[in-house]
Amino acid sequence: MPLPARDPIRHCNRCGSSIGYQVPADDNRARALCPSCGHIQYENPINVVGTVPRLDDGRVLLCRRAIEPRRGMWTLPAGFMELGECVQTGALRETQEEAGAEVELRALVSMISVLPVGQVHLYFAARCLSERLDPGPETLEARFFHPHEIPWEELAFRTVRRTLEHALEGEGLLVESLR
Ligand SMILES: [Zn+2]
Repeated sequence: MPLPARDPIRHCNRCGSSIGYQVPADDNRARALCPSCGHIQYENPINVVGTVPRLDDGRVLLCRRAIEPRRGMWTLPAGFMELGECVQTGALRETQEEAGAEVELRALVSMISVLPVGQVHLYFAARCLSERLDPGPETLEARFFHPHEIPWEELAFRTVRRTLEHALEGEGLLVESLR
C-alpha cells in the first residue's frame, strides 16, 4: 500500500529530549532511545480494518476517495483501528463512516502484511442490509458495482485489489505479505 512510510521519531514522548536510533542493551534492533531519560519508544505495525460489503445480488460497494493518498481512486471502506475497539467494531465503524452502509459482518476475507509501511490489513466479508448509502467526508462517491464493472485500473491500493480478487474468486482466508 503506497502510503508514506512513517517518519522517524525525533523527540522523546516522555521528557521531550531530542533522540536518535540505537540498539539498546539486550536488544537486537535500533530503537528510538532517549539519551536523557532512557525511555524507549517501540514502533510496531498498525492495523487497518475494513470490509468487502456486498448486496445479496453480488454487487460490491466501493468508495471513491476524497482524501490523499490516492484521491479520486476507488477503495473498499477501511481505516486505522482505534484504541479500545476490536477488529470487528473497527471494520463496522469505517464502513459506516466512509459509506454510510449498514452491514452485517461475515468471515474474514484477507489478512495482508504490508511491510514497507508496517501495517496489517484485515478485511471482513459483509452483507449489506439495504442499498441505502450516505458517504462521509472522506468519500467523494459510494456505489455498488457488479463484479464485471469493478474499476480494476482505478483501485487505490494493492491490498484492495488482492482482497477483491480473493473475495470474488478465492476460498477461505487470504494470508499474504506485500513488499
Ligand atoms: Zn526522554
